[in-house]
Amino acid sequence: MSIRTRLTLWYTGILAAILLLFSLALYSLLSQVLYEQVDDTIRSRAGEISSYIQTQTDPLRLLITRQVQIPPVDVFSTSNTFVQILDRQGNIVARSANLGDNFLPIRRESFDQNLAGSAVLYTLTTAQARLRIYSAPLIILDPLEGETIIGVVQVGMSLHDVDATLLTARYAIGLGVAFTLLLAAGVGAFMSHAALRPIDQITQTALQISRAEDLSRRLPAVRTQDELAHLTDTFNEMLGRLEELFQQQQRLVADVSHELRTPLTTLRGNLDLLRRGMERLSPEDIQDILQTMEGEITRMSRLVADLLLLSQADAGVQIKQEIVELDAVLLDVYRQALLMADGVRVELGHEDRALVLGDRDRLHQLLLNLVDNAIKYTPAGGTVRLSLYRREDWVQVSVADTGVGIAKEDLPHIFERFYRSDRARSRQTGGTGLGLSIAKWIAEAHGGHLTVESELGVGSTFTLWLKPYQPRAGAAENRAA
Ligand code: ADP
Repeated sequence: MSIRTRLTLWYTGILAAILLLFSLALYSLLSQVLYEQVDDTIRSRAGEISSYIQTQTDPLRLLITRQVQIPPVDVFSTSNTFVQILDRQGNIVARSANLGDNFLPIRRESFDQNLAGSAVLYTLTTAQARLRIYSAPLIILDPLEGETIIGVVQVGMSLHDVDATLLTARYAIGLGVAFTLLLAAGVGAFMSHAALRPIDQITQTALQISRAEDLSRRLPAVRTQDELAHLTDTFNEMLGRLEELFQQQQRLVADVSHELRTPLTTLRGNLDLLRRGMERLSPEDIQDILQTMEGEITRMSRLVADLLLLSQADAGVQIKQEIVELDAVLLDVYRQALLMADGVRVELGHEDRALVLGDRDRLHQLLLNLVDNAIKYTPAGGTVRLSLYRREDWVQVSVADTGVGIAKEDLPHIFERFYRSDRARSRQTGGTGLGLSIAKWIAEAHGGHLTVESELGVGSTFTLWLKPYQPRAGAAENRAA
């Protein structure tokens, strides 16, 4: 069932329940008021007759003749109010003319109750109509016997009018409720349709995007500042991110193919050379060719190893969390750098002691990448200086060189995968173009970062910033003990 239908049904259902309750309350109030009006009328009519008899009966005549003054009952009747007076034996002594040949039915038990002094209200259903009857004792003040019940007065009223009014009210309320519900359902369906239309549009566009496999498309902006605008923005943002990732992926595949093609071509060329000219080549030539091939294979292995590492980084692989003596790592890297120096002077500058939390091998790799670059891009005779400062909040390790430097326009890109500045021509220097992106990832995976300052022809300084390891107070005390 669609949200639209569900919304409309809920809305109409709740409204129906409210209207039903309201109508029931209204109807019962109305019928109560109408019936009470009838009761009040017949009660007051009976009261009037009682007081007529009391005021009109002459006590002297009553003493002598034992007769009371029967009222002209027609004065007290109207077209639908009937009056009847009975004596103590139950004989009818007076009837209103509108009763015709009929008389008001007498109920034995109410008659007895009347003679005992209490008034009774009841409803009678006859063949012609429903009657509401008030039956009350007729009391006079007898000079001899005091208050005496001399008979019963009955006032009846047809409920025909009240019943007709209530029937009309039932029809009116029923029709009103039905009409309101129909109207509400219609308006509700229309409104939910209008409110949900943008979602249909979003779905359509999303479908088109997925069918056309075109990630560059975007959903049209929604002008309102509501949930749908938020949804559209989020969806567009997600598409943007997907497009970016997809392009990165494509670029990476293109770069990797490109990077692998050159060494493979070199390998194939050299293999051809070996096969065709085996007899003609001198042992030195063969040695050269084999060395070149070995170099290319080493480069390819490094490239594949670097790519593997970066794919782990992309997959969010967690690094180890061990306590690392960073100064010891730097010393290792320094020793290795001395072997790679190739005419460049490698120096160990300021070196504080510093502990950090992380993966020793990865940190070693990071610093080696920086030092490797520094040596690669520094001509013979230049200097590469390694230093470590333990500051309050940060541990800083810097690798400064007096090499070729990096152009301003290249600086924002050097941490990107496969980015190489033309000036550096690092392909010839044997780099894979992944060294700095790996270094950046390692730094960030340790909760730190890498910065660079460089000037063309003057040199570059790469700085690694890491959070120092703070042993907890308890642990420090344990060690001291
Ligand atoms: P590569 O394997 O090409 O060295 P990197 O990712 O390590 O790849 O470095 C990217 C680019 O940054 C290099 O091609 C080079 O242009 C520049 N670069 C890195 N380190 C230095 C440096 N110390 N001096 C000058 N340029 C550098």
